[in-house]
Amino acid sequence: MPKDTRPSQYDILFEPVRIGPKLAKNRFYQVPHCNGGGYRDPSAVAEMRRTKAEGGWGVIFTEQTEIHPTSEITPFIEQHLWEDKDIPALAAMAEAMKSHGALAGIQLAYSGINGPNLYSREVPLAVSGGPILTFTSDPVQARTMDREDIRDLRRWFRNAFRRSQQAGFDLICLYGAHGFGVLQHFLSRATNHRTDEYGGSLENRARFLREIIEDAREATKGELGVTLRLSLHEGGKLGFSNAELRDFIEMHGDLPDLWDLAQGTWEACSGTSRFTAEGAQEDLVRGIRALTSKPVVGVGRFTSADAMVRQVRSGVLDFIGAARPSIADPFLPKKIEEGRFDDIRECIGCNICVSGDMTGGISRCTQNTAFMEEWRKGWHPERARPKGASDSVLVVGAGPAGLEAALQAAKRGYSVTLAEATTTLGGRVARERLLPGLSAWGRVADYRTGQLAPLPNAEIYRDSRLTADDVLAMGAHHVALATGSRWRRDAVARFHLHPIPTDPALPLYSPDDLMDGHGPTGGHVVLYDDDHFYMGSVMAELLVARGCTVSFVTPAAKVAEWTENTLEQGTIMRRLLSLGVTVITGKAPDAVTADAVTLACVWTGATTTLPADAVVMVTSRTPNDALWHDLVARRADWQEAGIRSVRLIGDAAAPGPIAWATYDGRRFAEDLDEPDDRGDTPRFRREVAGLDPGPSRLPPVA
Ligand code: ADP
Ligand code: SF4
Repeated sequence: MPKDTRPSQYDILFEPVRIGPKLAKNRFYQVPHCNGGGYRDPSAVAEMRRTKAEGGWGVIFTEQTEIHPTSEITPFIEQHLWEDKDIPALAAMAEAMKSHGALAGIQLAYSGINGPNLYSREVPLAVSGGPILTFTSDPVQARTMDREDIRDLRRWFRNAFRRSQQAGFDLICLYGAHGFGVLQHFLSRATNHRTDEYGGSLENRARFLREIIEDAREATKGELGVTLRLSLHEGGKLGFSNAELRDFIEMHGDLPDLWDLAQGTWEACSGTSRFTAEGAQEDLVRGIRALTSKPVVGVGRFTSADAMVRQVRSGVLDFIGAARPSIADPFLPKKIEEGRFDDIRECIGCNICVSGDMTGGISRCTQNTAFMEEWRKGWHPERARPKGASDSVLVVGAGPAGLEAALQAAKRGYSVTLAEATTTLGGRVARERLLPGLSAWGRVADYRTGQLAPLPNAEIYRDSRLTADDVLAMGAHHVALATGSRWRRDAVARFHLHPIPTDPALPLYSPDDLMDGHGPTGGHVVLYDDDHFYMGSVMAELLVARGCTVSFVTPAAKVAEWTENTLEQGTIMRRLLSLGVTVITGKAPDAVTADAVTLACVWTGATTTLPADAVVMVTSRTPNDALWHDLVARRADWQEAGIRSVRLIGDAAAPGPIAWATYDGRRFAEDLDEPDDRGDTPRFRREVAGLDPGPSRLPPVA
């Protein structure tokens, strides 16, 4: 659709806005975001940013770029700008960002009290010394910077400003948010205990910021825009509060070329949809615009064009900041520009992308299966490669894996048949979207069913449970079995590798039973969670809503421990406590008797008895792979039926998070008609570190 046919109320989003010496072409601002690739995967990151440029973002930033080896946050993989040899990788990223007229920005960070320096082994330097404050409680302390150290730090920043300009960036973002950057540590009374001219009054605590911004302008001859990313509300008794931030902006309204405001901690700023609504930081940011003549950007997991327009029209924001919505749909601006609202692939707010950074893997996105695979595998978030030599594809099961497989195969041009046993499309998300807090997850199904509907080469059959005979009779060239999985009831997972004894007199349920509407509606329920992700706590919420008293038992030291990686663990614990759930850590059931659960301490083995009216096991899942085994048993019939390949995908192959299933669906479609070397070579491109040809530094042999 041409630009001028979009409804005119959205035109405001496409107005150019000035950031110091630079002009952004529109109000779509991709704020800095990590991706788990960083310095390890420079080309993969650059290509990912290029898709954002192609998708119409006006401003695109790098992730956190560490300016000096005295401040690095290993094991998290971000960017480095420590010396000139770091420039080429960042220059490639800047070039990719600018490829379609976006401004390229670099986020510069000095982590101070947040950087344990596990790789560089340098002594961490902080505004005020003390234990390093990270997710991982590293047993390391930072030294308080003296005046000479502060002079050094200013020089290191100036080196980074010069290198940023050399790399071709238009904008510099100084990082002082989420508790991660030294600028926030100076501003905050929680982390600044200094008694010299850099501590005490707000004027003094702001001194370093004033100096560093002046340095940035001088080092770049005023040619780059300088933005300041600050927390809207640090929290805690002495933290840099929203009121103090407003005082600071009133005093220094024109200091940076743009204010980039991000709610408190990273957990608060990147809240999941389970706990945080779209536009959640509005109360903290409203009114700040009036305190400054410079533009303001804020985030809020914005995916609705109407919500964006309202933020701008009501004078709350000048730019619509987005990290996750830009990951889920790099083409969000373009789709709004062209009035293609139904094509927007909305972020579901699951934070699986964050988990890629937290685990040192590479980020993936539940919704955008191409994320971080643009360079590694040549996948594109919008465009499909033309199909290969064969023609027809049968996909069995319309869960996340099956829907993605069908959509991507159809986009490539194959003739696709999707058969679903039930009358509802979506598989597990059709069920899980009805659970407390998870309604946004339904977007996984809605987006794909919406995109499949108009495709003339895709047929969907509901209420069609296929058998091996059916599959053979249909004779498609390629078959994907995306038949999902079922939760177990026998306690088998990580702690118990074999079933425990259970007395049938005590009712015992799985999450599937509860989602099917069965299970207790009162009494004391013992919930055993050896899954450690979201499902245990969601089931506890559901049981409390049904009127049950719940004891949450886990062999781990904390509830839902994997949700540290989605930034939810603390919120989940608070939610369980506020619901009156009894939390029992470090224990696992040994046996289920007629009226109780015998719990064993995972450290000592000591047992206790917990009376129960029912038990819910949130442990592991069994793949629904019977159809696969039936077909494998009849492999000799495939050729006659015209079948060239059958693949088991998604939860039916290996149960995992939804993002693993959508990825596997995409992979099936991408692999169609590709040569298969059965894993002898990696199926993705990777970069191997260049060897340093310099001489050995070891002392000579005597
Ligand atoms: P995944 O996450 O891997 O996509 P789900 O459990 O979400 O798995 O979805 C599996 C889907 O497959 C469900 O909607 C289920 O009803 C469907 N299904 C299972 N067995 C068959 C079958 N034999 N024929 C058609 N559909 C099936
Ligand atoms: Fe959104 Fe989840 Fe994708 Fe992250 S992984 S961008 S939260 S859909």
